[in-house]
Amino acid sequence: MKILVLNSGSSSVKFQMWDTTGKGILAKGLVSRIGLENPLLEHSPIDGEKIEINPEGIIDHTKAIELGLEAIVHPDYGVLDSISEIEAIGHRVVHGGENFSGSSYLDDATIAALKACIPLAPLHNPANLKGIEACAKELPGVPQVGVFDTAFHQTMPKFAFLYGVPMELYDKHKIRRYGFHGTSHYYVANEAAKLLKRPIEDLKIITAHLGNGASITAVEGGKSVDTSMGFTPLEGLIMGTRCGDMDPYIPLFLQEKEGLTAQETNTLLNKKSGLLGLTKISSDMRDILAAGERGNQIALLAMEIYCYRVKKYIGAYAAAMGGLDVLVFTAGVGENSDTIRNIIVRRLEFLGIDVDPVKNHAAYGIPMDISTPTARVRTIVIPTDEELVIASETERIVLERRSK
Ligand code: ADP
Repeated sequence: MKILVLNSGSSSVKFQMWDTTGKGILAKGLVSRIGLENPLLEHSPIDGEKIEINPEGIIDHTKAIELGLEAIVHPDYGVLDSISEIEAIGHRVVHGGENFSGSSYLDDATIAALKACIPLAPLHNPANLKGIEACAKELPGVPQVGVFDTAFHQTMPKFAFLYGVPMELYDKHKIRRYGFHGTSHYYVANEAAKLLKRPIEDLKIITAHLGNGASITAVEGGKSVDTSMGFTPLEGLIMGTRCGDMDPYIPLFLQEKEGLTAQETNTLLNKKSGLLGLTKISSDMRDILAAGERGNQIALLAMEIYCYRVKKYIGAYAAAMGGLDVLVFTAGVGENSDTIRNIIVRRLEFLGIDVDPVKNHAAYGIPMDISTPTARVRTIVIPTDEELVIASETERIVLERRSK
Protein backbone atom coordinates (compact mmCIF):
# COMPACT_ATOMS: atom_id res chain seq x y z
CA MET A 1 0.00 0.00 0.00
CA LYS A 2 1.29 3.50 -0.87
CA ILE A 3 1.09 5.57 2.29
CA LEU A 4 1.99 9.18 2.98
CA VAL A 5 3.33 9.54 6.53
CA LEU A 6 3.08 13.06 7.94
CA ASN A 7 4.48 14.69 11.05
CA SER A 8 2.93 18.13 11.10
CA GLY A 9 4.42 20.68 13.51
CA SER A 10 3.63 24.33 14.10
CA SER A 11 6.15 25.63 11.54
CA SER A 12 7.17 22.49 9.65
CA VAL A 13 5.74 19.39 8.00
CA LYS A 14 7.85 16.22 7.68
CA PHE A 15 6.82 13.80 4.91
CA GLN A 16 7.69 10.21 4.16
CA MET A 17 6.29 8.34 1.18
CA TRP A 18 6.03 4.59 1.90
CA ASP A 19 5.30 1.57 -0.22
CA THR A 20 4.51 -1.15 2.30
CA THR A 21 4.43 -3.89 -0.34
CA GLY A 22 8.17 -4.38 -0.18
CA LYS A 23 10.06 -1.32 -1.31
CA GLY A 24 9.59 0.42 2.04
CA ILE A 25 10.41 4.08 2.09
CA LEU A 26 10.41 5.86 -1.30
CA ALA A 27 11.15 9.48 -0.32
CA LYS A 28 11.60 11.78 2.65
CA GLY A 29 10.72 15.46 2.68
CA LEU A 30 10.47 18.49 4.91
CA VAL A 31 8.77 21.83 4.47
CA SER A 32 10.10 24.23 7.09
CA ARG A 33 9.48 27.86 8.04
CA ILE A 34 5.71 27.57 7.47
CA GLY A 35 4.08 30.92 8.30
CA LEU A 36 7.50 32.63 8.21
CA GLU A 37 9.59 34.36 5.56
CA ASN A 38 11.82 32.23 3.31
CA PRO A 39 10.09 28.85 3.61
CA LEU A 40 12.09 25.85 2.42
CA LEU A 41 11.14 22.55 0.80
CA GLU A 42 13.62 19.68 1.03
CA HIS A 43 12.90 16.43 -0.81
CA SER A 44 15.08 13.31 -0.90
CA PRO A 45 14.09 10.37 -3.10
CA ILE A 46 15.58 7.30 -1.48
CA ASP A 47 17.59 6.46 -4.63
CA GLY A 48 18.38 10.00 -5.70
CA GLU A 49 19.86 13.30 -4.70
CA LYS A 50 18.30 15.71 -2.25
CA ILE A 51 16.71 18.79 -3.81
CA GLU A 52 15.93 22.09 -2.10
CA ILE A 53 13.37 24.65 -3.26
CA ASN A 54 12.55 28.08 -1.85
CA PRO A 55 8.83 28.65 -2.41
CA GLU A 56 7.62 32.25 -2.96
CA GLY A 57 6.09 34.24 -0.11
CA ILE A 58 4.71 33.02 3.19
CA ILE A 59 2.96 29.63 3.07
CA ASP A 60 0.43 27.81 5.27
CA HIS A 61 0.08 24.06 6.04
CA THR A 62 -2.18 23.42 3.02
CA LYS A 63 0.35 25.03 0.67
CA ALA A 64 3.19 23.10 2.39
CA ILE A 65 1.41 19.80 1.75
CA GLU A 66 0.64 20.85 -1.84
CA LEU A 67 4.37 21.54 -2.36
CA GLY A 68 5.37 18.24 -0.78
CA LEU A 69 2.94 16.36 -3.06
CA GLU A 70 4.24 18.22 -6.14
CA ALA A 71 7.75 17.00 -5.27
CA ILE A 72 6.50 13.43 -4.76
CA VAL A 73 5.07 13.32 -8.33
CA HIS A 74 7.64 15.57 -10.02
CA PRO A 75 8.75 14.16 -13.42
CA ASP A 76 12.47 14.59 -12.60
CA TYR A 77 12.80 13.73 -8.91
CA GLY A 78 9.35 12.37 -7.95
CA VAL A 79 8.70 8.83 -6.77
CA LEU A 80 5.06 8.37 -7.88
CA ASP A 81 3.44 8.95 -11.31
CA SER A 82 0.33 10.51 -9.80
CA ILE A 83 -1.00 11.51 -6.38
CA SER A 84 -3.98 9.25 -7.07
CA GLU A 85 -1.61 6.36 -6.22
CA ILE A 86 -1.64 7.46 -2.55
CA GLU A 87 -4.02 5.06 -0.79
CA ALA A 88 -3.82 6.34 2.77
CA ILE A 89 -2.28 9.01 4.99
CA GLY A 90 -0.84 8.29 8.44
CA HIS A 91 -0.40 11.19 10.86
CA ARG A 92 1.77 11.40 13.93
CA VAL A 93 -0.48 12.96 16.56
CA VAL A 94 1.08 14.06 19.83
CA HIS A 95 -1.78 13.89 22.32
CA GLY A 96 -4.73 11.54 22.26
CA GLY A 97 -5.58 12.06 25.94
CA GLU A 98 -7.67 9.23 27.37
CA ASN A 99 -9.71 9.05 24.17
CA PHE A 100 -7.21 6.99 22.18
CA SER A 101 -5.50 3.84 23.43
CA GLY A 102 -4.50 2.83 19.91
CA SER A 103 -4.22 4.22 16.40
CA SER A 104 -7.48 5.45 14.96
CA TYR A 105 -9.21 6.07 11.65
CA LEU A 106 -9.80 9.81 11.39
CA ASP A 107 -13.43 10.72 10.72
CA ASP A 108 -15.60 13.57 12.01
CA ALA A 109 -16.08 11.89 15.41
CA THR A 110 -12.41 11.08 16.01
CA ILE A 111 -11.32 14.52 14.76
CA ALA A 112 -13.75 16.07 17.29
CA ALA A 113 -12.21 13.87 20.02
CA LEU A 114 -8.78 15.05 18.91
CA LYS A 115 -9.90 18.68 19.13
CA ALA A 116 -11.06 17.99 22.68
CA CYS A 117 -7.41 17.17 23.52
CA ILE A 118 -6.15 20.62 22.42
CA PRO A 119 -6.08 22.01 26.00
CA LEU A 120 -3.70 19.14 26.91
CA ALA A 121 -1.27 19.92 24.06
CA PRO A 122 -1.94 23.50 22.97
CA LEU A 123 1.23 23.72 20.87
CA HIS A 124 1.20 20.31 19.19
CA ASN A 125 -2.36 19.15 18.55
CA PRO A 126 -3.49 22.27 16.59
CA ALA A 127 -0.51 21.78 14.24
CA ASN A 128 -1.36 18.07 13.82
CA LEU A 129 -4.97 19.04 13.06
CA LYS A 130 -3.82 21.57 10.45
CA GLY A 131 -1.98 18.73 8.68
CA ILE A 132 -5.09 16.53 8.80
CA GLU A 133 -7.33 19.32 7.47
CA ALA A 134 -4.83 20.22 4.74
CA CYS A 135 -4.68 16.58 3.58
CA ALA A 136 -8.48 16.43 3.45
CA LYS A 137 -8.31 19.40 1.04
CA GLU A 138 -5.36 18.21 -1.05
CA LEU A 139 -6.23 14.50 -1.15
CA PRO A 140 -10.03 14.38 -0.76
CA GLY A 141 -11.45 10.93 -0.05
CA VAL A 142 -8.09 9.38 0.88
CA PRO A 143 -8.42 7.64 4.28
CA GLN A 144 -6.47 9.23 7.14
CA VAL A 145 -5.23 7.53 10.30
CA GLY A 146 -3.91 9.09 13.53
CA VAL A 147 -1.06 7.38 15.43
CA PHE A 148 -0.74 8.89 18.89
CA ASP A 149 2.40 9.47 20.97
CA THR A 150 0.32 8.87 24.10
CA ALA A 151 -1.58 5.73 23.03
CA PHE A 152 0.97 3.07 24.03
CA HIS A 153 1.02 4.42 27.60
CA GLN A 154 -2.72 4.11 28.12
CA THR A 155 -2.09 0.71 29.71
CA MET A 156 -0.42 2.32 32.77
CA PRO A 157 -2.22 1.39 35.99
CA LYS A 158 -4.00 4.14 37.88
CA PHE A 159 -1.46 4.03 40.72
CA ALA A 160 1.26 4.88 38.18
CA PHE A 161 -0.56 7.61 36.25
CA LEU A 162 -2.19 9.60 39.07
CA TYR A 163 -0.31 12.40 40.84
CA GLY A 164 -0.61 13.17 44.53
CA VAL A 165 -2.88 16.17 44.02
CA PRO A 166 -6.58 16.49 44.92
CA MET A 167 -8.50 13.82 43.02
CA GLU A 168 -11.04 16.34 41.72
CA LEU A 169 -8.28 17.80 39.51
CA TYR A 170 -8.18 14.51 37.63
CA ASP A 171 -11.95 14.48 37.28
CA LYS A 172 -12.14 18.15 36.29
CA HIS A 173 -8.99 18.72 34.20
CA LYS A 174 -7.72 15.20 33.51
CA ILE A 175 -4.50 16.01 35.40
CA ARG A 176 -2.54 12.76 35.20
CA ARG A 177 0.56 11.19 33.61
CA TYR A 178 0.05 10.52 29.89
CA GLY A 179 3.56 9.83 28.62
CA PHE A 180 4.89 10.48 25.11
CA HIS A 181 7.22 8.90 22.50
CA GLY A 182 4.86 5.89 22.77
CA THR A 183 5.35 4.87 19.14
CA SER A 184 9.11 4.68 19.66
CA HIS A 185 8.93 2.82 23.00
CA TYR A 186 6.47 0.32 21.46
CA TYR A 187 8.68 -0.23 18.41
CA VAL A 188 12.01 -0.71 20.17
CA ALA A 189 10.54 -2.95 22.89
CA ASN A 190 9.11 -5.24 20.21
CA GLU A 191 12.32 -5.16 18.14
CA ALA A 192 14.30 -6.09 21.27
CA ALA A 193 12.07 -9.13 21.85
CA LYS A 194 12.50 -10.12 18.18
CA LEU A 195 16.29 -9.78 18.41
CA LEU A 196 16.34 -12.01 21.49
CA LYS A 197 13.87 -14.43 19.86
CA ARG A 198 11.70 -14.32 22.98
CA PRO A 199 7.98 -13.56 23.33
CA ILE A 200 7.54 -9.99 24.53
CA GLU A 201 4.81 -11.22 26.89
CA ASP A 202 7.57 -12.92 28.96
CA LEU A 203 9.86 -9.90 29.22
CA LYS A 204 10.43 -6.98 31.59
CA ILE A 205 11.96 -4.26 29.42
CA ILE A 206 13.15 -0.72 30.07
CA THR A 207 13.30 1.44 26.94
CA ALA A 208 15.38 4.63 27.10
CA HIS A 209 14.50 7.00 24.24
CA LEU A 210 17.29 9.58 24.48
CA GLY A 211 16.86 12.18 21.72
CA ASN A 212 16.33 15.93 21.83
CA GLY A 213 13.33 15.07 23.93
CA ALA A 214 13.99 12.08 26.18
CA SER A 215 11.83 9.61 28.05
CA ILE A 216 12.15 6.18 29.61
CA THR A 217 9.46 3.51 29.87
CA ALA A 218 8.86 0.32 31.82
CA VAL A 219 7.37 -2.26 29.44
CA GLU A 220 6.08 -5.38 31.17
CA GLY A 221 4.65 -8.18 29.03
CA GLY A 222 4.58 -5.82 26.03
CA LYS A 223 2.58 -3.12 27.84
CA SER A 224 3.72 0.25 29.13
CA VAL A 225 3.36 0.21 32.92
CA ASP A 226 5.14 3.48 33.69
CA THR A 227 6.93 6.25 31.82
CA SER A 228 8.91 9.33 32.74
CA MET A 229 7.11 12.02 30.74
CA GLY A 230 3.94 13.09 32.45
CA PHE A 231 1.06 15.48 31.96
CA THR A 232 3.32 17.17 29.40
CA PRO A 233 6.68 16.18 27.86
CA LEU A 234 8.48 18.36 30.44
CA GLU A 235 8.67 15.77 33.23
CA GLY A 236 11.30 13.09 33.71
CA LEU A 237 14.77 13.00 32.20
CA ILE A 238 17.07 15.96 31.56
CA MET A 239 16.65 16.84 27.86
CA GLY A 240 18.24 19.15 25.31
CA THR A 241 16.38 22.22 26.56
CA ARG A 242 13.85 20.80 29.08
CA CYS A 243 14.50 20.51 32.79
CA GLY A 244 12.74 17.20 33.53
CA ASP A 245 11.94 16.39 37.17
CA MET A 246 12.34 19.04 39.83
CA ASP A 247 10.61 20.30 42.95
CA PRO A 248 7.28 21.71 41.68
CA TYR A 249 7.68 24.65 44.06
CA ILE A 250 10.64 26.01 42.04
CA PRO A 251 8.53 27.67 39.29
CA LEU A 252 6.39 29.39 41.95
CA PHE A 253 9.52 30.56 43.79
CA LEU A 254 11.00 31.92 40.55
CA GLN A 255 7.80 33.69 39.58
CA GLU A 256 7.96 35.50 42.91
CA LYS A 257 11.71 36.20 43.07
CA GLU A 258 12.36 36.96 39.39
CA GLY A 259 8.92 38.36 38.54
CA LEU A 260 8.47 35.81 35.76
CA THR A 261 5.11 35.49 34.01
CA ALA A 262 3.58 32.07 33.37
CA GLN A 263 4.74 32.29 29.74
CA GLU A 264 8.30 33.26 30.73
CA THR A 265 8.41 30.38 33.21
CA ASN A 266 7.24 28.03 30.47
CA THR A 267 9.99 29.27 28.13
CA LEU A 268 12.62 28.96 30.88
CA LEU A 269 11.77 25.35 31.73
CA ASN A 270 10.95 24.06 28.22
CA LYS A 271 13.39 26.01 26.03
CA LYS A 272 16.26 27.30 28.17
CA SER A 273 16.90 24.49 30.63
CA GLY A 274 18.25 20.94 30.27
CA LEU A 275 21.71 20.54 28.71
CA LEU A 276 21.53 24.04 27.24
CA GLY A 277 20.64 25.72 30.52
CA LEU A 278 23.19 23.76 32.53
CA THR A 279 26.12 24.32 30.19
CA LYS A 280 25.25 27.44 28.12
CA ILE A 281 27.16 25.52 25.42
CA SER A 282 24.44 23.72 23.47
CA SER A 283 21.33 21.56 23.67
CA ASP A 284 23.03 19.05 21.37
CA MET A 285 24.75 16.17 23.15
CA ARG A 286 27.42 16.04 20.42
CA ASP A 287 28.59 19.54 21.42
CA ILE A 288 28.54 18.62 25.12
CA LEU A 289 30.59 15.47 24.48
CA ALA A 290 33.08 17.43 22.38
CA ALA A 291 33.43 20.07 25.11
CA GLY A 292 33.84 17.30 27.69
CA GLU A 293 36.65 15.79 25.62
CA ARG A 294 38.40 19.17 25.69
CA GLY A 295 38.18 18.99 29.48
CA ASN A 296 35.32 21.50 29.94
CA GLN A 297 34.23 20.83 33.54
CA ILE A 298 30.67 22.16 33.12
CA ALA A 299 30.12 19.85 30.13
CA LEU A 300 31.45 16.87 32.11
CA LEU A 301 29.14 17.75 35.01
CA ALA A 302 26.12 18.09 32.68
CA MET A 303 26.85 14.62 31.27
CA GLU A 304 26.94 13.22 34.82
CA ILE A 305 23.65 14.93 35.74
CA TYR A 306 22.00 13.67 32.54
CA CYS A 307 23.18 10.07 33.02
CA TYR A 308 22.48 10.00 36.77
CA ARG A 309 18.81 10.84 36.10
CA VAL A 310 18.53 7.99 33.54
CA LYS A 311 20.25 5.61 35.99
CA LYS A 312 17.78 6.49 38.77
CA TYR A 313 14.83 5.72 36.48
CA ILE A 314 16.35 2.36 35.50
CA GLY A 315 16.51 1.45 39.20
CA ALA A 316 12.98 2.73 39.79
CA TYR A 317 11.46 0.85 36.88
CA ALA A 318 13.27 -2.40 37.71
CA ALA A 319 11.64 -2.05 41.14
CA ALA A 320 8.26 -1.20 39.58
CA MET A 321 8.34 -4.37 37.46
CA GLY A 322 9.91 -6.56 40.13
CA GLY A 323 12.88 -7.33 37.90
CA LEU A 324 14.50 -6.59 34.57
CA ASP A 325 15.34 -8.68 31.50
CA VAL A 326 16.23 -6.10 28.86
CA LEU A 327 17.50 -2.52 28.75
CA VAL A 328 17.10 -0.78 25.38
CA PHE A 329 18.80 2.43 24.24
CA THR A 330 17.35 4.36 21.31
CA ALA A 331 17.06 7.80 19.57
CA GLY A 332 19.84 10.27 18.72
CA VAL A 333 21.87 10.03 21.94
CA GLY A 334 20.87 6.47 22.90
CA GLU A 335 21.75 5.06 19.47
CA ASN A 336 24.94 7.00 18.88
CA SER A 337 26.82 7.70 22.09
CA ASP A 338 28.71 4.81 23.66
CA THR A 339 30.12 7.32 26.17
CA ILE A 340 26.67 8.22 27.50
CA ARG A 341 25.53 4.57 27.53
CA ASN A 342 28.68 3.71 29.41
CA ILE A 343 28.17 6.34 32.12
CA ILE A 344 24.52 5.32 32.54
CA VAL A 345 25.20 1.62 33.11
CA ARG A 346 28.15 2.18 35.45
CA ARG A 347 27.40 0.59 38.88
CA LEU A 348 24.25 -1.16 37.62
CA GLU A 349 25.98 -4.56 37.72
CA PHE A 350 23.93 -5.39 40.83
CA LEU A 351 20.83 -5.42 38.59
CA GLY A 352 22.47 -7.86 36.18
CA ILE A 353 23.43 -5.21 33.61
CA ASP A 354 26.91 -5.85 32.22
CA VAL A 355 27.94 -4.10 29.03
CA ASP A 356 30.86 -5.23 26.86
CA PRO A 357 32.90 -2.06 26.13
CA VAL A 358 34.01 -3.30 22.70
CA LYS A 359 30.45 -4.13 21.58
CA ASN A 360 29.21 -0.87 23.10
CA HIS A 361 31.74 1.09 21.05
CA ALA A 362 30.89 -0.83 17.87
CA ALA A 363 27.08 -0.49 18.05
CA TYR A 364 25.87 1.70 15.22
CA GLY A 365 22.88 1.76 12.86
CA ILE A 366 21.52 -1.75 13.40
CA PRO A 367 19.96 -3.52 16.42
CA MET A 368 22.79 -4.86 18.56
CA ASP A 369 23.12 -6.67 21.88
CA ILE A 370 26.01 -4.96 23.67
CA SER A 371 25.99 -7.11 26.84
CA THR A 372 28.65 -9.57 27.91
CA PRO A 373 27.64 -13.20 27.20
CA THR A 374 27.00 -13.86 30.90
CA ALA A 375 25.00 -10.70 31.70
CA ARG A 376 21.62 -11.48 33.32
CA VAL A 377 20.07 -8.41 31.67
CA ARG A 378 20.48 -7.96 27.91
CA THR A 379 21.43 -4.37 27.03
CA ILE A 380 20.48 -3.61 23.45
CA VAL A 381 20.85 -0.63 21.11
CA ILE A 382 18.00 -0.32 18.61
CA PRO A 383 17.54 2.44 16.01
CA THR A 384 13.99 3.68 16.41
CA ASP A 385 11.63 4.06 13.42
CA GLU A 386 8.43 5.85 14.32
CA GLU A 387 7.47 6.38 10.65
CA LEU A 388 7.62 2.63 10.00
CA VAL A 389 5.14 2.10 12.84
CA ILE A 390 2.89 4.90 11.51
CA ALA A 391 2.94 3.37 8.01
CA SER A 392 2.17 -0.15 9.25
CA GLU A 393 -0.53 1.03 11.69
CA THR A 394 -2.14 3.06 8.89
CA GLU A 395 -2.13 0.06 6.58
CA ARG A 396 -3.60 -2.18 9.31
CA ILE A 397 -6.45 0.20 10.08
CA VAL A 398 -7.30 0.91 6.43
CA LEU A 399 -7.33 -2.84 5.61
CA GLU A 400 -9.53 -3.52 8.67
CA ARG A 401 -12.04 -0.93 7.47
CA ARG A 402 -11.98 -2.25 3.90
CA SER A 403 -12.79 -5.76 5.15
CA LYS A 404 -15.84 -4.57 7.12
P1 ADP B 1 14.38 14.22 18.13
O1 ADP B 1 13.96 14.14 19.56
O2 ADP B 1 14.44 15.60 17.60
O3 ADP B 1 13.72 13.20 17.23
P2 ADP B 1 16.79 12.65 17.75
O4 ADP B 1 16.35 11.34 18.24
O5 ADP B 1 17.11 12.80 16.30
O6 ADP B 1 15.87 13.83 18.23
O7 ADP B 1 18.07 13.04 18.59
C1 ADP B 1 18.69 14.26 18.36
C2 ADP B 1 19.83 14.40 19.33
O8 ADP B 1 20.67 13.24 19.25
C3 ADP B 1 20.72 15.56 18.98
O9 ADP B 1 20.29 16.72 19.61
C4 ADP B 1 22.03 15.12 19.55
O10 ADP B 1 22.13 15.61 20.87
C5 ADP B 1 21.96 13.62 19.62
N1 ADP B 1 22.94 12.95 18.78
C6 ADP B 1 22.90 12.71 17.47
N2 ADP B 1 24.02 12.08 17.05
C7 ADP B 1 24.79 11.93 18.15
C8 ADP B 1 26.09 11.36 18.40
N3 ADP B 1 26.81 10.82 17.44
N4 ADP B 1 26.54 11.38 19.67
C9 ADP B 1 25.83 11.93 20.66
N5 ADP B 1 24.63 12.48 20.49
C10 ADP B 1 24.11 12.49 19.26
